[in-house]
Amino acid sequence: MSDASARLIDGKAYAQTLRTAVAAEVAALKAEHGLIPGLAVVLVGDDAASAVYVRNKGEQTEAAGMYSETHRLPAATPQAELEALVKRLNADPKIHGILVQLPLPPGLDSAAVIAMIDPDKDVDGLSVVNAGRLASNLPALTPCTPVGCMVLLRDVIGDLAGLRAVVIGRSNLMGKPMAQLLLQADCTVTIAHSRTRDLAAVCREADILVAAVGRPQMVRGDWIKPGAVVIDVGVNRVASKDPEKAAAGKTRLVGDVAFDEALSIASAITPVPGGVGPMTIACLLQNTLTAARRIHGLEAG
Ligand code: NAP
Repeated sequence: MSDASARLIDGKAYAQTLRTAVAAEVAALKAEHGLIPGLAVVLVGDDAASAVYVRNKGEQTEAAGMYSETHRLPAATPQAELEALVKRLNADPKIHGILVQLPLPPGLDSAAVIAMIDPDKDVDGLSVVNAGRLASNLPALTPCTPVGCMVLLRDVIGDLAGLRAVVIGRSNLMGKPMAQLLLQADCTVTIAHSRTRDLAAVCREADILVAAVGRPQMVRGDWIKPGAVVIDVGVNRVASKDPEKAAAGKTRLVGDVAFDEALSIASAITPVPGGVGPMTIACLLQNTLTAARRIHGLEAG
């Protein structure tokens, strides 16, 4: 293998730029129309990782000058109570975006809860209506992580038209909307998944390779076409490299791509952490701003 050469795509820096731009637009919206976009986040149960995400979302929403509301409910909350909260938020004029943090505790039906969210406030873009709008090239609220990936890709590559893109993963949250956005950008798109035959050969076709699987370092260096741009969405916790720290239970985060191998083959790659991850909340703020504008008829579509 040759020396490392891939450009590192600094998601933290892009996210900071996006948050600053959103904050400026929020300030303008307030000054010109007296409108303050509002985001409500609902957290059910006491999952530690979810609690951290939710706290960060609240802090960053306020830092952007928006109104933020966090509803923390016990794990034993009945389905009807959760749905009643969503109904209240649907009707609340202060709230333009509603996000129910997933996964919900066992016993709660997340599909039913998502289906109750007003599609125009569904800033996670998970409702059937928003998935349909996206697939039909209509103005949609689109899941935040794929939107963030597109911001990075457009900046690194520019015009994506005609490029071969392979997305590994077909979840409603990530793989499918990612593929739709790449298709809208005129890429030739392949969606790969756990039943794909000869995944390595499929990946080697890709000018743009997006890995959204959840398997540590599954994508090896020799799966990557030389010069490809690699977007690593995976977040996987594995044992620390240092055997002593590992023995003490210390962990580290890695992506779905064998990063060190990819460095010498890709032209650009997102690191984990610090690549795709920071873009997600920044895009959530942008979706909330978009929702507020649309609800108040301040944006076409
Ligand atoms: P998911 O719902 O579990 O979907 C995983 C997808 O990977 C499925 O479509 C699955 O295929 C596919 N897959 C599993 N094993 C495979 C294999 N051996 N070969 C090929 N494909 C395989 O996960 P997700 O919600 O999309 O998330 C994917 C990863 O992205 C996770 O690590 C998650 O933590 C991360 N993520 C990060 C962010 C962020 O902000 N950075 C946001 C969202 C997700 P089948 O459909 O055939 O089962």
